[in-house]
Amino acid sequence: MSGLPGTSPPWPTARSAWECQAFLTLTPCPGCAGPGLRPREIATLTGDAGKRWEYHAICARCGRSETFTFALAAEPAPAYPEFGGATPSQLLDAGQFLVLAEVVADTVAADPYEIDLPGPDAVGTIAQELARARDDIGVAVAAAAECLKFVPAGATAVPRSALWSPAGLARFDADPEAFERRHLLSTLGAFREVQWEYSRVGGEA
Ligand SMILES: [Zn+2]
Repeated sequence: MSGLPGTSPPWPTARSAWECQAFLTLTPCPGCAGPGLRPREIATLTGDAGKRWEYHAICARCGRSETFTFALAAEPAPAYPEFGGATPSQLLDAGQFLVLAEVVADTVAADPYEIDLPGPDAVGTIAQELARARDDIGVAVAAAAECLKFVPAGATAVPRSALWSPAGLARFDADPEAFERRHLLSTLGAFREVQWEYSRVGGEA
């Protein structure tokens, strides 16, 4: 995909609603370049060109409204926080997924026991914090796994040509080595280890 998906075909294929949500969150507003487009209305359309979702989104900063159309993937959407099946994303590139994984993982304490009790009045807060951290590290794991889908079979790295977003390209150019398969596997492994630590702490997410 290059540029933003408009309302006329060809539409990029969305593998899940969660992937569309992440796309809106990570796509700068075409008007003010601010972050945080928010879906206001989602319509499911059918036609000769197949089933598609039409997202009407609004910019939290300048109020501009944008419409994005996504074709629906043939395979059923995976359970959250997975973004999609084995096929690489057409909405977000490997760089955007890596940044997402890193930023979200950065908010999670590596050791669940490091989560501080904010105060005696904060009943239930620890459970909420643990649930939030579990959710976040799950997103980081899923996003890091998405990067690996961009490594072509038999290749050792995501090629720069596989990226298209300014943010993704900036992340690539800052540190191309991070996109080597072995680096991506080690990043994913580190996040999975944190996820495992959280799975050992009592209570369910
Ligand atoms: Zn805006």
